[in-house]
Amino acid sequence: MPDPRDFTPLISQRTRRGASDAIRDILAAAASPGVLSLAGGLPAAETFPRAAVRDAVDRTLSHSGTAALQYAPTEGVGRMRECAAELAGRSGAPTTAANVLITSGSQQGLSLVAGAFIEEDDVVALDDPSYLGAVQTFRAAGARLLPVPCDRDGMDTDVLEARLAAGVRCKLVYVVPHFHNPTGAMLSPARRRHLADLADRYGFLIVEDDPYADLAFDGIRHPSLELSHAGVIRLMSLSKTLCPGFRVAALVAPARLTAVLAGAKQHTDLQTNTFGQHVVAELLGTPGFLAPHLAGLRSFYRDRANRFAEVLAERTPWLEFEKPRGGLFVWCALAAPNADSARLARAALDAGVAVVPGAPFCVESDGTRRLRLSYAALTAERMRDAAGRLDIAYARTHLV
Ligand code: PMP
Repeated sequence: MPDPRDFTPLISQRTRRGASDAIRDILAAAASPGVLSLAGGLPAAETFPRAAVRDAVDRTLSHSGTAALQYAPTEGVGRMRECAAELAGRSGAPTTAANVLITSGSQQGLSLVAGAFIEEDDVVALDDPSYLGAVQTFRAAGARLLPVPCDRDGMDTDVLEARLAAGVRCKLVYVVPHFHNPTGAMLSPARRRHLADLADRYGFLIVEDDPYADLAFDGIRHPSLELSHAGVIRLMSLSKTLCPGFRVAALVAPARLTAVLAGAKQHTDLQTNTFGQHVVAELLGTPGFLAPHLAGLRSFYRDRANRFAEVLAERTPWLEFEKPRGGLFVWCALAAPNADSARLARAALDAGVAVVPGAPFCVESDGTRRLRLSYAALTAERMRDAAGRLDIAYARTHLV
């Protein structure tokens, strides 16, 4: 007799395919008291513009109190869509609110795209390694993943071209063009053009997921792929530049595509949080707020990244890495040939530091010796402690 309390057989294929608990347990342990975390992708809470948010909340309640507490259109609150169009226009083609869909985080943008365009066995090409949230979403949708190797200049578009020329047909290519999670890579201008050219030739969509563009330490931001190709869906998260708690992000695409995605959103959650949209629009529209806020953010993370690189060089000389140029992550390699980052991550937790092993991000490539470290959350002193603990864990697992 089947156990009536066992609901496992009832779980859909979609949900089973998308599940991954590889990192969940580490992140849960990272939140335990006494554990220093180099694991999460959480932005530094000190960077959240609390005073400006408080003022924006007050103004929202005074000026648009009832509208801000009411249902809103699926596409998003008008002011928020206009703000997002303006932001998008800074690094892409001039655009209007008609091209914008406000989503509940970029993660929802990914899931709407997967739901609207991917059918069982459709091919999605992506960097290998890639952002785990995207890998899970496309897997859940039933996509066949086409892993494309990447280096510090991002996806190797020559390899993609060779696969396309050999007859592989992909419906969608997913890229994180600035400071990739987990590799920190930047898609080079030449490869951006090449990718756009391939999209024109082979007729696939490009999903440009770009949460870290404003975190370039040199302040230089490359233009969006959308400038050279029409079939681009841009995902513009505000989680790293304002704060993740509002769950307000923008998806920018040709109006025909945003209409399709809005249709999909309607039966998902009707709309993104109205109050959050009003407050974020108020905040972004505050004269003199955004540019100094972003400049402060860049200098904050630049400082953290520099300190972290120094600490790692001093305390964990067995780790190979490139100094970050932006974003929140360092993608490290363990130098020892017998090294195993999953084993190290377990030992690190015992030593009181959380780190994320590389394998869960990898589709086909070998992540056994890889480690993703984030410098976002810790002060210089705590980074030093964290690296010391990691060194102890390494000695326990790989030297003895
Ligand atoms: N894409 C990438 C590449 C990310 O790193 C993240 C967050 N870690 C997201 C999307 C999700 O962003 P949001 O908070 O806007 O859902």
